[in-house]
Amino acid sequence: MTRTLILSDIHGNKDALDAVIADAGSADRIWCLGDIVGYGPEPAACLAWVREHCEIILSGNHDYAAFEPSVVRDFNPNAARAAEWTRAELSMEEIAYLRSLPSLVAVEGVTLAHASPADPIWTYILSVVDARDAFGAFDGALCFVGHTHVAACYTDADAMISRVPVVNDEPLSLAGERFIINPGSVGQPRDRDPRAAYLWYDADARTVVWKRVTYDIAAAQLKIFAAGLPDRLANRLSLGQ
Ligand code: ZN
Repeated sequence: MTRTLILSDIHGNKDALDAVIADAGSADRIWCLGDIVGYGPEPAACLAWVREHCEIILSGNHDYAAFEPSVVRDFNPNAARAAEWTRAELSMEEIAYLRSLPSLVAVEGVTLAHASPADPIWTYILSVVDARDAFGAFDGALCFVGHTHVAACYTDADAMISRVPVVNDEPLSLAGERFIINPGSVGQPRDRDPRAAYLWYDADARTVVWKRVTYDIAAAQLKIFAAGLPDRLANRLSLGQ
């Protein structure tokens, strides 16, 4: 049995990351689906942890913004300000490291993409229509994505795409159908559950389990205020949106 811990959208929130690590305990390996930095007050600490511990590391759109400032013009004002702050916080070496990362990886018949296999950095899979495009863009039966900050599951059973409700703490069998799975966000959940999200994937049993864990949101918010980042980025952590 190989227990893979899957993390996405940490977004510089070390308080949330620490809670996830403590709650998860030991993993055989850890995969990170990108957006390690951006929004949150501790991008360098989160990046250092990911580099040390993760077997696969993808780059997300906010990681991309750290080395490609021009994309920030497509961000909303708060995200743009956070991206500029984040770039100033990171060393040249850290920015070069982010630039070196892929946004799409295929491993052991599993596809990992930050946003979607159809467009690894920018597309949002928020509906069955989005999922249909994504299912057409990868081989094999299983794809993990992040980017939306919403824990989600889509299945493709004979071209019938449907969204499967996410139930925390209960193994979901991946047998028989094709799946696109989003673990949700460690550092900035947007599914109205402010708890940090992560996922277990068991490649042998072919199951996944979504997990949520409370963390010290107030501590993360104080760091956001102290950094001079937009208040909204702190407030939304309490709301999970
Ligand atoms: Zn993100």
